[in-house]
Amino acid sequence: MEQILLTSAYLFASVFFILSLRGLSSAETAKTGNYYGMVGMGVAIVATVMSNEVTGYAPILGAILIAAVIGAFMAARVKMTAMPELVAILHSFVGLAAVLVGFALYLDEGAAHGSRVVMQIEIAVDVFLAAITFTGSVLAFLKLRGSVSGAPLLLPGRHLFNLVMFVSCIVLSALFVQAEGHTGLNYLIIMTVVAGVLGYHLVAAIGGADMPVVVSMLNSYSGWTAAAAGFMLGNDLLIITGALVGSSGAILSYIMCKAMNRSIVNVIFGGFGTNSGGSAASGEQIEGEITETFVEQVIDELRDAQSVIIVPGYGMAAADAQYAVASMTEILRKMGTQVRFGIHPVAGRLPGHMNVVLMQANVPYDIVFEMDELNDDFPATDVVLVIGANDIVNPSAQTDPNSPIAGMPVLEVWKADRTVVMKRSRRTGYAGVDNPLFYKDNTRLLFGDAKDSLNSIVAGLKE
Ligand code: NDP
Repeated sequence: MEQILLTSAYLFASVFFILSLRGLSSAETAKTGNYYGMVGMGVAIVATVMSNEVTGYAPILGAILIAAVIGAFMAARVKMTAMPELVAILHSFVGLAAVLVGFALYLDEGAAHGSRVVMQIEIAVDVFLAAITFTGSVLAFLKLRGSVSGAPLLLPGRHLFNLVMFVSCIVLSALFVQAEGHTGLNYLIIMTVVAGVLGYHLVAAIGGADMPVVVSMLNSYSGWTAAAAGFMLGNDLLIITGALVGSSGAILSYIMCKAMNRSIVNVIFGGFGTNSGGSAASGEQIEGEITETFVEQVIDELRDAQSVIIVPGYGMAAADAQYAVASMTEILRKMGTQVRFGIHPVAGRLPGHMNVVLMQANVPYDIVFEMDELNDDFPATDVVLVIGANDIVNPSAQTDPNSPIAGMPVLEVWKADRTVVMKRSRRTGYAGVDNPLFYKDNTRLLFGDAKDSLNSIVAGLKE
């Protein structure tokens, strides 16, 4: 393929990636955004395969076919609740691929383009970022899956340990760049191992409550890794795409940190979320009793209500209750009740998790609001239904400075006339913190699987 054609194809793909990001910024246009991304990626793959540098078509087409089948299979099978794990493991593939490309480029005699020193610096930067992304993402995947504990690993002097590893990587990179021929291979291998340990240790020190930011930060790391690989390979598209992913991931992390009242620097270095993992961390004594309610009572309260706010959380997605929620919403709206949804920025296990799940069930966009848009409306609300949410409605975030989620903005559901919380047990949420909301006078707990409870409510409302 002519160079000019290749450059044009890459430019075309880049424009589609930008359009994709724009589309993904709101629920209404997210589907179109995805289509733009698919077109951009399709063009990028075809153009790359047809470029002059590719000669062996059989292995590359074989690899694309196998990867496409595995990817389609994984995407079709994954449950919405397991999406963060999938995202984390996909980031780890970016990291692993970039490490391997870095080594391959170093060992390939004919691959050098431009100055050798510059290329070796690019290889060192790429491999460093890629190794951190790889091990960090694998650990994030295992933490999100629950295969390893979500509690933070807080080694004494851990910041010094990180600093020593970081400085060692710089020294090893300098030795690698100075080494003649392929004699720098050992330095590169040791630097990769040290960077890998650094990535693992950085994520290990982060507590469960900060995991959303970690997923987004790893997204950003994988983008910068791809951009570094782009410089290394002299591939403009990879540089542009990597920079788009890197910067959008960084911006998202910043927005999420603001939403959770966290400092991004402290999240990255494991300073926060350090108490998460057990309610014992919270010093506040909870007073009062839990009052249980039943489906019939909730139906009566919903029939009498003029305004209802639904606050969904991880449990709604886990129970696959969104379709029952949509049916209940439709019935209530037909009865003339004002129904709105309140979405916390980190509800569920992924940014935007709740919006996607509600979209699946065709809940109208115009009744779905961000936390800040309706947090002042709770005092004037008759009934709030908290469906499988816990941390995001925990008042101790405002009242208990020792709580692992202290300072995190929460939906002030306890200010409504009646708050009904649907969950299966008295267990805590993701951050492992007790929730004083359950003990308030105007709160009722409707125990049971959210989908079963909602189906019974829908059946009752229909009668
Ligand atoms: P939580 O994990 O705090 O609470 C979910 C609740 O759902 C639990 O109390 C659980 O109680 C209940 N539940 C689970 N399954 C069911 C079911 N089948 N039927 C009814 N209830 C069910 O979720 P939130 O959405 O409130 O908060 C999100 C938490 O996850 C935050 O701590 C956030 O920091 C963290 N996080 C968020 C990410 C993001 O990007 N959004 C990523 C990673 C973590 P029970 O077991 O008693 O049923």
